[in-house]
Amino acid sequence: MERLQKYMARCGVASRRKCEEYISQGLVAVNNDVITELGFKVDVDKDRVSFNGSIISPCENKVYIALNKPEGYITSVKDEFDRKTVIDLVDVKERIFPIGRLDYDTSGLLLLTNDGEVYNKVIHPRVSINKVYEALVKGNFTEEEIKKFEVGVDIGGYITAPAELKVIKKEKNKSLVHITIHEGKNRQVRKMCAAFSHEVITLKRLSVGDIKLKDLPKGSWRNLDDKEIEYLF
Ligand code: URA
Repeated sequence: MERLQKYMARCGVASRRKCEEYISQGLVAVNNDVITELGFKVDVDKDRVSFNGSIISPCENKVYIALNKPEGYITSVKDEFDRKTVIDLVDVKERIFPIGRLDYDTSGLLLLTNDGEVYNKVIHPRVSINKVYEALVKGNFTEEEIKKFEVGVDIGGYITAPAELKVIKKEKNKSLVHITIHEGKNRQVRKMCAAFSHEVITLKRLSVGDIKLKDLPKGSWRNLDDKEIEYLF
């Protein structure tokens, strides 16, 4: 017997957490009975599980993908307003979903998979994976502001975990900086910069832990290599 959300993740529907939402929303049926109970267990050999009216089954072929997300795409499998999603950029037959998210106006490294187990390991709040962003911001950071990044920044009722800010290039009215954060609050980098009145002009993610964007062109994707996949587990 296996918990319903775990089985769904194994079938590549979405992450376990997202599957729990689907169950609560009444989108999942076991042998034609809609199940909304999160503790429900299925007999994987006998029960017929359907999601959104279609029978699901475990997908054997796991895929792990790095995409250089361009601005103007939403990090979601579907959009209720029919905007372009990151899934439109990746041409694979497996039902993949993004691991974590980047804002509509952020570019850079986004990981995608059909393996719900990996998703849990990478974005679980207990796991602190370094994420490095390159930001072009208005103005210049003072030494004092840089030190505050190292302590934690108040982004409106929440003090971030210590982060690092490295100035790469300084011009009169703008700066190129690399910011490393260890958590993933909504619009965290933009809010951290805004806390010191530095508006972010462009934002690009360079890496997630050991996985780097490198020279992957914008809008292109690649399969992770064995070492990178190993890192995710
Ligand atoms: N921080 C942000 O502000 N935006 C992102 O897309 C990612 C991190």
